[in-house]
Amino acid sequence: MRNALTRPGQGAALVDCAIWDGRAESAVGDQGLRVAPDGTVRSAGPVEEILSQARADGDVVVELSGATLTPGLVNMHVHLGLALPGPMEEANKAATDAEQVLLLAGNAREVLRAGVTTVRLVGESRFADMALRAAIRRGQVDGPTIYTAGHALCCTGGHGHGADAVEADGADGFRRATREQIRAGADLIKVCISGGIAGEHEQIDTPQLTDDEMAAVISTAHDWGRKVTAHAGPAGAISRAVELGLDCVEHGYQLDAALCARMAERGVAYCPTITVSRCEQFFLDTGVPRWMIERALAAGPRHWESLQHAIAAGVPIIMGTDLPPQVPYDETTATVREMEFMAEAGMTAHAVMVSATSAAADWLGAGDDCGTLRPGARADVLLMEGDPTTDVSVLRSLHGVIQGGRIVRDDRGLLRTGGVV
Ligand SMILES: [Zn+2]
Repeated sequence: MRNALTRPGQGAALVDCAIWDGRAESAVGDQGLRVAPDGTVRSAGPVEEILSQARADGDVVVELSGATLTPGLVNMHVHLGLALPGPMEEANKAATDAEQVLLLAGNAREVLRAGVTTVRLVGESRFADMALRAAIRRGQVDGPTIYTAGHALCCTGGHGHGADAVEADGADGFRRATREQIRAGADLIKVCISGGIAGEHEQIDTPQLTDDEMAAVISTAHDWGRKVTAHAGPAGAISRAVELGLDCVEHGYQLDAALCARMAERGVAYCPTITVSRCEQFFLDTGVPRWMIERALAAGPRHWESLQHAIAAGVPIIMGTDLPPQVPYDETTATVREMEFMAEAGMTAHAVMVSATSAAADWLGAGDDCGTLRPGARADVLLMEGDPTTDVSVLRSLHGVIQGGRIVRDDRGLLRTGGVV
């Protein structure tokens, strides 16, 4: 397992760094961050203050050569067992349950190394996600903190039925499918209410659930204290779900201004996954069928407009990729490229960083557990060069990852050099 930054009974103080805490307006220089032996943030503040606290308590002091510290990223649309049509879907179907969980575990380790310390899983198969979440919590396997929906839900033949979605029909059927995910340990519910890119017999704007089916999912999940997010394309189906109490929209390929105004008013979040309609190379690499590539790229311009409508209306936006968070994309990762696209579409760099940290944590109801570096938060920390709240491409310089006070990645060997002052 990984090296702890702290030693038994002894905390660590990271100094010679700038800090952006997940909520502040920008990064602040000449700061220090103390990590308690239990892996949480003890305090953060001006370096002189942090050093005097560190001396009093005998912390290990680690100098970081001016690096910027931010909270670990939260990626809100992830499938660790992504099974797109073609070879991925075939491999997924052929895998035994044991093979499936090992596949997820391998991906989870890579996700964490890419600086994504928390994920929201929105569709996995055979509850391998639940087994993995438990193993990560126990410290048996390296991976991000997991919030998961279990299987996605869809209607018979609906979006995702060949991959991670379970089929149901009618209000009773959807109530049961929702309860089955909760019984298995789902933290949230994901429902596919329209067609999408990856379904052969549908179009992006095919409505797939009736109002009573959507209402059944939403009211059952809410009764059990779970939020609901919907895979959704067209404005019509999304408006109906929003009025029924939906909590979040995935993709939203065809949002318009009126719908975005309503989402903002009701506090419904939007997870654009903007890369999915502009990632031709990833689709070529994964061998998906030609019709799917064409449909994805054709959706691109309208998808981009949707994001711009959401930005203009002030919809709460959260970051998610749909692509595996760590896959290479334009010489960085899909996660960083997604964040760059969000900035290119008109979000400030600060808003993009918030969407990938504290706003995501707020949606998850995680409090200050993740997404911030405030006292009591889990010490999930990234190291980079420069201030990402002025330019998100600064994330390309990521060179260190700490999770709960343990060193995950230390490209420059800065984190293992601590001494006691
Ligand atoms: Zn997805």
